[in-house]
Amino acid sequence: MSKRLYYEEPYLQEFKGKILEKIKIGGKPALILDNTCFYPTSGGQPNDLGYIQGVSIVDVIEDNEKIIHVLKEGIEEEFGDTVIGKIDWERRFDHMQQHSGQHILSAAFEKLWNAGTVSFNLGDEICTLDIMKDNITSEEVKKAEILSNNIVLENKSIKVYFVYQERANELNLRKIPPQKGDIRIVEIKDFDICACCGTHCGTTGEVGLIKILKWEKRGVKTRLDFICGKRSFKDYYWKNELIKNISNKLTIKETELGEAVERMLEERKETRKELREIKEKLQEYKAKRLIDESSLKDNRIKIISKVFEEDNFQEVRELVQKIINLDESVVVLFGIKSEGAKILFACSRALKYDMNRLIREAGKFIEGRGGGAHNFAQAGGERAEGIEDALNYALEHFQEFII
Ligand SMILES: [Zn+2]
Repeated sequence: MSKRLYYEEPYLQEFKGKILEKIKIGGKPALILDNTCFYPTSGGQPNDLGYIQGVSIVDVIEDNEKIIHVLKEGIEEEFGDTVIGKIDWERRFDHMQQHSGQHILSAAFEKLWNAGTVSFNLGDEICTLDIMKDNITSEEVKKAEILSNNIVLENKSIKVYFVYQERANELNLRKIPPQKGDIRIVEIKDFDICACCGTHCGTTGEVGLIKILKWEKRGVKTRLDFICGKRSFKDYYWKNELIKNISNKLTIKETELGEAVERMLEERKETRKELREIKEKLQEYKAKRLIDESSLKDNRIKIISKVFEEDNFQEVRELVQKIINLDESVVVLFGIKSEGAKILFACSRALKYDMNRLIREAGKFIEGRGGGAHNFAQAGGERAEGIEDALNYALEHFQEFII
């Protein structure tokens, strides 16, 4: 059995312990000591980290009455030897802030709406609290935050002690413990009394700012994401920097950001609409110019043949569509080099050439495959240097491909 020093002295960072057992956990060396201030993962609170004899701890596990310290590598000391353990205080104090903050929040929801806590988890970045209440409003969240932070500012003492099971039943605990025997109690003066095995701050003031970041309905429950203490400061810091930078860039006051974003979104909608219209006009202009510049074949069919170097395939497709809609006797033979090798053949609906069969033949020059309708077909391949040959082939032979 390992004595849990953190029960009585949560602020103890360094301790001496005797080795009771040296074992292996998942192939890694592990130690069981006669006493320890390393907290094992349990009850929603993650394990402590730190060092034993200067070797990193990778995990701390609870196994009935034993606490197992899993080490990164083995140590020389043997059974009965004394070792020095040192916990990662930054991590532990963070967990103390989050866990005490969770007790305050849980008590606040219970006091305000009789909404009990179902479960909680202290994550690496965000903590979650599931409470028995659905359809929580922003106003209600704000009310719980205000009450919780008032409890922080009142700097109430947080006391930890053990009581017998019988006495625990008389205490009107917020959370009923599952185990028998002595019960560990965490009491926030005149506010909350709860059974808990975790590590806690000595006063509520040390918890720092308690902030609910967001919440979501989960059936009849609600999951709240929250942070406390230094995490709240870090969160406030980056959000403040972000807002400061954005308002500087936009040269407006931080308080006017909301309105400014609304205005910008509206302007963006308008600009997009205008851009669409301008693009449409430009495509029409390009289509007309290409028809005007086209060469005549057999004094009847207008031929437009062109290789595009940098253009967007979808825009070229739209241009082809425009051309064949504008003119009743045009054949379009396009190649596009910007996205591999692509060819696009089309003709006016009134013409009876089979572009689908033609592109299958011409596609061989770009080692490509494709097809489409009789008046609009496309093919894609790997050989961009074959595009000119594909277009020349099509130009010479399209009259042979009749539907
Ligand atoms: Zn607790």
